[in-house]
Amino acid sequence: MQTEVLSIRDLSLKTGLSQTALRNILADLEDQGIVAKVATDYRAISSEMPDLSRYEPIREQNRRDLEEMVRYVETSLCRMEHICHYLGDPTASSCGVCDNCTPRNWPPVSEDVLASARAFVSHPRIHLKSKLKGTKVYQDARALSYYNGTRVGETISHHKYETRQPFPEWLVDEGAQVVKKYWGDVAFAGVVAVPSTKSGDLVRDLAERLASKLGLSFLDVLVKIRHTRPQKELTNRAQKRQNLQKAFAVKAPLRGTLLVVDDVADSGVTFEEVGKVLKGAGAEHLYALALAKTRHSDDL
Ligand SMILES: [Zn+2]
Repeated sequence: MQTEVLSIRDLSLKTGLSQTALRNILADLEDQGIVAKVATDYRAISSEMPDLSRYEPIREQNRRDLEEMVRYVETSLCRMEHICHYLGDPTASSCGVCDNCTPRNWPPVSEDVLASARAFVSHPRIHLKSKLKGTKVYQDARALSYYNGTRVGETISHHKYETRQPFPEWLVDEGAQVVKKYWGDVAFAGVVAVPSTKSGDLVRDLAERLASKLGLSFLDVLVKIRHTRPQKELTNRAQKRQNLQKAFAVKAPLRGTLLVVDDVADSGVTFEEVGKVLKGAGAEHLYALALAKTRHSDDL
């Protein structure tokens, strides 16, 4: 049989799987003699279906373990007793010290701990990896807050997907505060909005109001020149990057330092692509501000 040789990137684009998932699956397919590694790429060497039967019991066990964990979290009985019973010790009795046995012993959270928790969720950095001629595309990038489980995230989602009305004034205010707090001494030449797939004119409206609040000009220069899919429908970085390639253009030459505004930063790929186009049109330095940032494992 004759088949093409595919790189990890080709496979990412075709499947939408993460690199880790792909590597695990490929390792298993290699074991089963279905694909072979050619240097760093892969080629199918058998058209037989992989044997999936060995995964079913593992999946079933994982599902049962998960249910057990949920039961442990939700129980109102002694947690030690619960765990002992689960592990096969029917003689266990209440421990007398866990949070369910003695709810009043549960220590109140100290002010210090609360303060560091607040600091963690406030103004998270957006990790942008792209470089241009060896230097970072952005000087700094921040969001007001995380997207999931926060007031900011819920407000964005409500306006973006339900009411389609402009973002409320307090979000614009908080945006202005972040700019003043972190980049107060930066002389911005203007504010640019990331053209959006889903948000309609919400991001543009946000950027205009933010610019006026900061006493800056809104630069209506960035446009989308072809249709793209919403980034969140795509599941890995390779697909996200390909989706945005050559999607943006700048209408007029630029100079100086610009503030680039978007509503939600996910993988950061949108900011990176937009940043390259802005720099290509003459912008010297860029700062990125999103209202919210989705959470990734590398945050923790
Ligand atoms: Zn207990």
